[in-house]
Amino acid sequence: MVKYIFVTGGVVSALGKGIAASAMAALLEAKGLKVAIQKLDPYINVDPGTLSPFEHGEVFVTDDGCETDLDLGHYERFTSFRSSVVNNYTTGKIYFNVITKERRGDYLGATVQVVPHITDEIKEAIRSAAAPDLDILIVEIGGTVGDIESLPFLEAIRQFRYHVGKENVLYVHLTLVPFIRSAGEMKTKPTQHSVNELREIGIQPDVLLCRTERPLPAEMKRKIAIHCNLDADAVVSALDVETVYEVPLAYKAEGLDRLLDKKLQLNVTPPDTTAWESVVDRIKHPKHEVTIAIVGKYVGLKDSYKSLEEALIHGGIANNARVHLAWVDAEAIEKNGPESLLAEVDGILVPGGFGIRGVEGKIMAVRYAREKKVPYFGICLGMQLAVIETARNLCGLRAHSTEFDPQTPDPIIYLMEKWFNHRTGMVEERTAESQMGGTMRLGAYPCVLQEGTHAFAAYGAREISERHRHRYEFNNKYREVLEQHGVIFSGLSPDGELCEIVELKDHPWFLGCQFHPEFKSRPREPHPLFTAFIEASLKAKMDFFPES
Ligand code: GLN
Repeated sequence: MVKYIFVTGGVVSALGKGIAASAMAALLEAKGLKVAIQKLDPYINVDPGTLSPFEHGEVFVTDDGCETDLDLGHYERFTSFRSSVVNNYTTGKIYFNVITKERRGDYLGATVQVVPHITDEIKEAIRSAAAPDLDILIVEIGGTVGDIESLPFLEAIRQFRYHVGKENVLYVHLTLVPFIRSAGEMKTKPTQHSVNELREIGIQPDVLLCRTERPLPAEMKRKIAIHCNLDADAVVSALDVETVYEVPLAYKAEGLDRLLDKKLQLNVTPPDTTAWESVVDRIKHPKHEVTIAIVGKYVGLKDSYKSLEEALIHGGIANNARVHLAWVDAEAIEKNGPESLLAEVDGILVPGGFGIRGVEGKIMAVRYAREKKVPYFGICLGMQLAVIETARNLCGLRAHSTEFDPQTPDPIIYLMEKWFNHRTGMVEERTAESQMGGTMRLGAYPCVLQEGTHAFAAYGAREISERHRHRYEFNNKYREVLEQHGVIFSGLSPDGELCEIVELKDHPWFLGCQFHPEFKSRPREPHPLFTAFIEASLKAKMDFFPES
């Protein structure tokens, strides 16, 4: 029987519900349980694929090609669980399903309403993620209690306990206990209000996770417990920590695993958190330091590169190094040249992106990395621009991507009309109208590596699988001329048609990949390409400053 933990948030947004759910999952997994996590998002977009990264942060891509909320990235990084289409539902997706059924005549003349039709659909969505082999499904409800938008979700999870039995459901509420500096005191009132709000709609939380700057004194926990009608040990302080990967350990220290055991009758062994302890130790006490420039467009909102940032930290963990990130605005490179902004860094990374803004600045960064022999890692757009740069400056082509210049004489990056999807065994086609919007190459695709390359050395395998999210591809017409000028096509699709990884001869480490390796990197299993890139950057730094 699957047991359910519903996580809601109160008081303010951005308290880190995603991290809280993930850390709880990590702790339960460390007890030997099989855990999955689902996110229910109150916004009306059917998926976050069309949301601006400025507003909503990164779009996380699953193996099965879904564009999902960035919290799913946290879920995967903290656990061994792999998410899919059933792990992220939005209000839009729920309504879309209900309206589709209504048009099909499924409701047999009934008036279709929020209760029961929308709430039933939400419960169905929750069940769809509860595979029978799971011990626990953690469901995170986006938004803050009190928002109009999240009400149907809260009503659905209230009803859920009724269907599956009290002993199988736990409500965890994440709140803030602020420290008011002028009064020198922590305040519990916002937490009380938030719990009242939940109780008004019929949900009595079983556990309160209180975000605090300072440890919550026992008598304050007692006070919250009495006001909120909770067991005294059910108020857990979630103290700010140095690295998010410390949260599972902080929860363990607070006895959260024992509390969950007791409440859900889990009866299993204590969590083995040694792997998390070593991750945290490596992050906090590294031997080396290295600085990586990320040349991008959304450098103002770091959440737009969340997985990337984490993957770089993981590469650091693998190399016992602290990775400092230098966020460089590509347009500033256009204005001031690469030298002034990139001279101090040990490695340069151009991440994925859409739209022409900053593209020439990114190409200048590629050229700088190539000519100065600084380790370069290009991801998706960063790979496409690496190809454009080498085509222009090594092969003398007037190359561009048709995304940015539809009339370019040398369309070295272009829209492919058809490609074979090895995952589904189907030929994917792009029609005239889909060229405008949809039809991205999304999700996991296999890639075959060429021996004797940086890619092969990093992965130590011949065939790999990585996740994609892009429309444009390398144009094979230009493969030969690039090869003549020292470009190596080190990773191809199994049929040889799709160019997935490029490298450069005569360069310490210059690699571009069409996929997004950052989506598969975990602190306990750093991604091989990030490990290799950080290693190369460290080496470049040490060659320069041998004593460091
Ligand atoms: N804009 C490019 C494309 O659509 C790259 C996308 C990306 O970097 N994710 O192909």
